[in-house]
Amino acid sequence: MADATQQHLHCAYHPFRQTVLRCNKCGKPICSKCVVRTPVGYRCRECVDKQQSAYATARWYDYVSTAVISATVTAVFGLGISFTCCLIIVFAPFVGGFAVSIASWVTNRRHSRHLVWAGVGGAFLGGLAISLMLLALTMLFALFNWQVSDFGILSQMDSLYLLAALLGITCIYTFICASTVYYRMRRDRAY
Ligand SMILES: [Zn+2]
Ligand SMILES: [Zn+2]
Repeated sequence: MADATQQHLHCAYHPFRQTVLRCNKCGKPICSKCVVRTPVGYRCRECVDKQQSAYATARWYDYVSTAVISATVTAVFGLGISFTCCLIIVFAPFVGGFAVSIASWVTNRRHSRHLVWAGVGGAFLGGLAISLMLLALTMLFALFNWQVSDFGILSQMDSLYLLAALLGITCIYTFICASTVYYRMRRDRAY
């Protein structure tokens, strides 16, 4: 096995896939799909994971504060700019990036491989909070049977359509926030 010529290496994860690459840490043959490019060369996923856990510095409360910050920023900014309607989607990447900046400052840039999921989960919680608030507003509206049509703006049916539209926009906004958080936290190599 160790003497196999380069042409006859097979990926450790894909036995039927030929490769010329090896992990430069453990020497395992890996195909181009499995290889992870690191500043110190080609590594297998297993070695990269081991390395990252060894350097994980995040404490348990960093997960909590990252999730809380991500949720709060997503919800507060989401509600704050929800009246710009569709523009909220344009702002979403900035909101996500802002959440990551604050979280990384508050956690003193401590990091771990799983911290990103606290950030992503927080963003979704924030989106959920916006949706629940929109629902609660509509419920209040229905409960008191406010005559919005008296204002000459909306009928009750219109307000249901408006709610549906706002919920739809909130979903897109939340998704963009969460993915920005994900990519920013993965990109900042500290995580
Ligand atoms: Zn390896
Ligand atoms: Zn492979």
